[in-house]
Amino acid sequence: GGSTSEDGTTKLVGGTEATFAPFESMDDNGNIVGIDVDVLNAISEEMDFDYELKNIGWEPVFSQITTGEIDFGAAGITITDERKESYDFTDPYFESTLLIVVPEDNTSITSVEDLKDKKVSVQINSTSHEAAKKILGQTNPDILAYENQPLAIQDVINGTADAALGDNAVLIEYMKNNPDAPIKTIEDDSFEKEYYGLMVKKGNEEVLNLLNDGLKKIKENGKLAEITGQEIE
Ligand code: GLN
Repeated sequence: GGSTSEDGTTKLVGGTEATFAPFESMDDNGNIVGIDVDVLNAISEEMDFDYELKNIGWEPVFSQITTGEIDFGAAGITITDERKESYDFTDPYFESTLLIVVPEDNTSITSVEDLKDKKVSVQINSTSHEAAKKILGQTNPDILAYENQPLAIQDVINGTADAALGDNAVLIEYMKNNPDAPIKTIEDDSFEKEYYGLMVKKGNEEVLNLLNDGLKKIKENGKLAEITGQEIE
């Protein structure tokens, strides 16, 4: 993985899905911005490599790492045992958990238990999707799966779904950016803690070590905490 340009600098290509503020979104000039970009900038500065981040969509992040079209994924990707069978991850850089989204005036859904007979929208192949399958059953057609998180939230706003699931920091940012959206979030302690990592193809030690060594450095020098507002080991 990775290519070397004429001046000897390593150049990596990464993939993301840029509707996931505050981790990645498109600014008015068509640039990808957010915590993941800030983390990558800090890492590449420490390790002295160049990189390009492409907005290719959620599922292509996984498939294009597998095919070798891209070197890494940076998309608020949770480190899971299942993904670790096919991919390698850096150490964690952000702690997250899931939240439930319901219409603002809803009073009948107060916990995960209440979702069992409801329509629940999620981002496809996300940890929210996995959680929905656990609650409603693997093949339940009342699970509505979309390409990104905002589409899943939209279903709750327009009444197609009774609830959505998503990552806490992203949902909180969505509510901040869409103060008129008639929705609210609900916490449930049964959602486990999740940790985001940068993801590479299984066995791509060259790129993994480059990213991980850089991550270690920005943990040590405090840059990571400055970027994320979190302390993480
Ligand atoms: N953290 C979640 C996951 O990895 C969602 C990531 C995302 O939607 N970009 O499944």
